[in-house]
Amino acid sequence: MAEPVRTTCPYCGVGCGVLAEAGADGTVAVRGDPDHPANRGRLCSKGMALGETLGLHGRLLTPEVNGRAVDWDTALDTVAAGFRAAIERHGPDSVAFYISGQLLTEDYYAVNKLMKGFVGSANVDTNSRLCMASTVAGHKRAFGADVVPGCYEDLDTCDLAVLVGSNAAWCHPILHRRLEAARARGARIVVIDPRRTATCDSADLHLALRPGSDVLLFNGLLAHLVRSGAIDGEFLSAYTKGFADALAAAERDAPDLDAVAAGCGLRATDVARFFRWFAATERTVTLFSQGVNQSSQGTDKVNAILNVHLASGRIGKPGMGPFSLTGQPNAMGGREVGGLANQLAAHMGFDDPADVERVGRFWNAPAMAAKPGLKAVDLFQAVAEGRIKALWIMATNPAVSLPDADAVRAALAACPFVVVSDAVRATDTTAHAHVLLPASAWGEKDGTVTNSERRISRQRALRPSPGAAMPDWWQVAQVGRRLGWGEAFAWRSSADIFREHAALSAFENHGTRAFDLGPLAGLTDAAYDALEPVQWPVRALNGEIGGTARLFADGTFVTPDGRARLVPVRVKRPAHVVSVEHPFILNTGRLRDQWHTMTRTGMVPRLASHTDEPFVAIHPDDAAEQDLTDGDLAIVAGPPGRAVLRVRVTGDQAPGTLFAPIHWSRRFASEGGVGPLLPAATDPVSGQPELKHGPVSVRRWAPAWTGFLVGRADVVPDADWWVGTVRDGCRVTLLAGDAWPADLEGWAARLLGGEARLDLHDGGRGVHRWARLDGDRLEAVLFLGTDGPQRPCDWLVARFAEPSVPAEERPWLLSGQAPSGATGCGRVLCACWNVAEARVRTAVEAGLTTVQEIGAALKAGTGCGSCVPEIKELIADARHDVAA
Ligand code: SF4
Repeated sequence: MAEPVRTTCPYCGVGCGVLAEAGADGTVAVRGDPDHPANRGRLCSKGMALGETLGLHGRLLTPEVNGRAVDWDTALDTVAAGFRAAIERHGPDSVAFYISGQLLTEDYYAVNKLMKGFVGSANVDTNSRLCMASTVAGHKRAFGADVVPGCYEDLDTCDLAVLVGSNAAWCHPILHRRLEAARARGARIVVIDPRRTATCDSADLHLALRPGSDVLLFNGLLAHLVRSGAIDGEFLSAYTKGFADALAAAERDAPDLDAVAAGCGLRATDVARFFRWFAATERTVTLFSQGVNQSSQGTDKVNAILNVHLASGRIGKPGMGPFSLTGQPNAMGGREVGGLANQLAAHMGFDDPADVERVGRFWNAPAMAAKPGLKAVDLFQAVAEGRIKALWIMATNPAVSLPDADAVRAALAACPFVVVSDAVRATDTTAHAHVLLPASAWGEKDGTVTNSERRISRQRALRPSPGAAMPDWWQVAQVGRRLGWGEAFAWRSSADIFREHAALSAFENHGTRAFDLGPLAGLTDAAYDALEPVQWPVRALNGEIGGTARLFADGTFVTPDGRARLVPVRVKRPAHVVSVEHPFILNTGRLRDQWHTMTRTGMVPRLASHTDEPFVAIHPDDAAEQDLTDGDLAIVAGPPGRAVLRVRVTGDQAPGTLFAPIHWSRRFASEGGVGPLLPAATDPVSGQPELKHGPVSVRRWAPAWTGFLVGRADVVPDADWWVGTVRDGCRVTLLAGDAWPADLEGWAARLLGGEARLDLHDGGRGVHRWARLDGDRLEAVLFLGTDGPQRPCDWLVARFAEPSVPAEERPWLLSGQAPSGATGCGRVLCACWNVAEARVRTAVEAGLTTVQEIGAALKAGTGCGSCVPEIKELIADARHDVAA
């Protein structure tokens, strides 16, 4: 093993440090960096599996034009010609970029400079619009700049942590472990979420408020702080403006505690307890995430939270403050360079003409954009209407992740010129590309990312990019040069870009902008390479470069008069509400072990096995009313489109609400995506889409047959419904159909990839099974039936990891069970250590009664800890059974 490379996890906004060691055999071993302040050596299940995502299967390794492999010059000339033609004929606003919080800051910077300084259009938006835009808008309204005032240490030292719209146990697991540690030393945790999530297992109070009623709750809290004398009058009068108006608005919505409880659908005693704890606890941190942001009232929700912290003076001091949990690894880095269509680089904006002039002068830009560009939803609407003639998409999958996703697909299909830069060849979005550009992936890229606490960390390359893959910034620079701006895009390395970015942040920044990397502008290549994690604003003191843990403790904000603003916010109806046709509210979110549209995590068998198919969670009463039982398939339909999902009946779901995960694309399932269900409603201030509140209907789908295909090939089956999962050495695809295929044998042979060697048919019972072997090696197995089984047993799947199947075992291939009689099709409970749920059950049945005992015996729960709630549940179930 070579020396480990210090780098950063490419998934969520926690920004964990990673030590990666490349082995001589090409494998990469990954562990947490004990010296990185974000994670201190810990990683969650996704981070632990990073080494398993580095294979070349499915990678895009060559540029392509109209499906034909070409060299880089041809591809880049084609891109430049396509953009030039559109700009010349239709003007700069006829071209656009849609980029990603997965990009490095240097990539982001290059795109923004090209578009906003040289093309002359601000039509650059990013999938961070789907993630953080409401927080950006809320921060700017309150503080004058997009600044998270606190740091992760505040989570360790707080006495009360309030989590709003955040399932941190699954979505920010390493930070959740820090909160659990705080709770172990006496801090309280309150979770505010309509759904009972894994995060609630470590909470002292769960407020399962009515979806969309967050503003009412925090307005009620503001009014309560005033009534109980818990405001900081000195801070308010010295450092803020707008308190009286904010309070008046709050009191109109929330005249008393009973009105708040009734409006939020909560018990008055629970609301009173939360208010009492908040009022009495100086060291309070309020953490908020997508449940707040992804709303048609997201910006107001953010300001309702910021208002209570400003009113109580709890901001920027140790152990207290509002804290936005960033979804993506570099959403904040993207915002630093103006990644959103309404921003300019280095925290400057279009509101102030002096900013536009300053950035243009710094860049020596020939065509500075003077107005904001199109935000994500509007951008794709413009594509649909034919106003965008050339679109370049980087490192994101809008055909899956945007609301009204079927309309987005149609828009992409109709767009005259689509360029996609990606590391993966086949995604729902690359299917629409005229030009495909192979991008370097994690482990090959070199640059910086910024996490939720403003900490800039290096992502470092472990190995060269494979094939012809190149960094995204390089691709942009090459096109910039071809468009005639060679000098401005003459960077040789990501270090060159970082220095320019840092210099711009300090350019005529006389303390008027919080974002400042000035002391880093002169880094040598070696110093950039060795850069330690640092929080901006970066300062140089006595020759030493240092970061800033907290801002605003001195009461100085970044508004023109230096005062923070309390913003009056009122309760509003969500953009779309339930109706007779769509009587349920659909909430969407992430799963523990998957990331975004699964292009990377979906290739890791142990990550796929915790939850291997898209589902819809429903309350037992609603399920009974809709004639649904656990395990049924259901058609979930919203105004724009539908999905077919497995039913999970659970009391964790509030009556009248459903939950479905966001991860499934058409690459993994026929109709598993939630994007098509959600109307494209947005917050009027931030433009962030409402992804957590869509009206839908749900009804049972009773297919004529179900079954599964297990095979070595990546077959996309011609079936009414299917879901595919990667397993060790094979792909398992669950299948269902409305009617039996007319030519059953021919259809089966196509799925099996050839003629079956073994088959079994019982027409009377509607059972049909086939197995294809190549010599002694098992190639594919297909089971169909009117009455299951719906999944392969573990023994059958394990045969695909073997080079041959012994003759005595072959009769069992079509039996649905192992020679031992075992029929289990177990899932992995602990993805960090690959521990199956069945092993934990056995350990519990054998008498282990605590999470610690299970951890000592099996290691389950000792990695990121996000499976601990499920282990506790298994232990509780066993106790319940014994008691019964
Ligand atoms: S919490 Fe997990 S996904 Fe997020 S940065 Fe850390 S290891 Fe990566």
